[in-house]
Amino acid sequence: MSDEGVGPLPSEGRVALVTGSSRGIGRAIALRLAKAGTKVVVNYVRREEEARAVANAIEALGSKAIVVKADVTNTQEVQAMFQKVQDTWGAVDILVNNAGIIKDSLLVRMSDRDWDETIAVNLRSTFLCTRAALRLMVRRRWGRIINIASVVAMVGNVGQANYAASKAGVIALTRSVAKEVASRNITANVVAPGYITTDIVEELPAGLKERILARIPVGRFGTVEDVAALAAFVASEEASYITGQVLSVDGGMAIGW
Ligand code: NDP
Repeated sequence: MSDEGVGPLPSEGRVALVTGSSRGIGRAIALRLAKAGTKVVVNYVRREEEARAVANAIEALGSKAIVVKADVTNTQEVQAMFQKVQDTWGAVDILVNNAGIIKDSLLVRMSDRDWDETIAVNLRSTFLCTRAALRLMVRRRWGRIINIASVVAMVGNVGQANYAASKAGVIALTRSVAKEVASRNITANVVAPGYITTDIVEELPAGLKERILARIPVGRFGTVEDVAALAAFVASEEASYITGQVLSVDGGMAIGW
């Protein structure tokens, strides 16, 4: 049997920037990439202590981390973050646009502010960070853009018109970017989680949690590791022929609805 394909760990020696990696899914992706030998930029906006704890955990795994505070909706802060990474490691090879918020309410009651903030954190940030990252990736002729959307982008959800629209926008952005940079050896894909046990899901009312569970064919909420495993694969060398795709990690939820 040939040992072809058994080489260095998938993303060894690469630099990854994971937005919103102080907790939840972003944290799990940061740790999973670090386990594969990737250096990681841990980004946060409010929770510095949690972000530092993630960086310490990455170093305990034998990889390297820097912590950068930046509001990813803000052009100047995004530019400063990428400049810092460039000064430190000279590259960003893998960008995971993970930072996200929900501001749920029925559309008729939705405030302008809840609409604008959700679009800004979930969609504008993806534009700003992708633009900054591509400038570095194009030079090195290698890159992975991984955008975290949601099952809700495909099927919609009561009380989440702003969130669903922002995540559907992320999908359309990703497909366009994938076409623009495919010839440069850069892929752009969407990872679309279903309901994953993080702070967002923990805060749902108990009755609603039961109703959601009944609609997940595999019969459980997802874990952050379920999402991180998929993101790590998409970030790897082996995924070089996958681009412009929406990859669901939702326990069959989208097909079950
Ligand atoms: P959490 O609420 O647990 O974490 C959100 C992260 O985003 C934190 O690290 C937070 O930083 C960061 N963040 C928020 N606003 C900004 C900002 N303006 N600038 C920089 N960072 C920011 O979220 P989840 O882990 O649950 O979700 C992560 C992603 O996955 C989101 O895009 C979400 O929409 C998506 N998703 C989640 C699902 C779920 O079931 N949990 C399902 C489908 C998709 P800080 O700690 O400093 O506040």
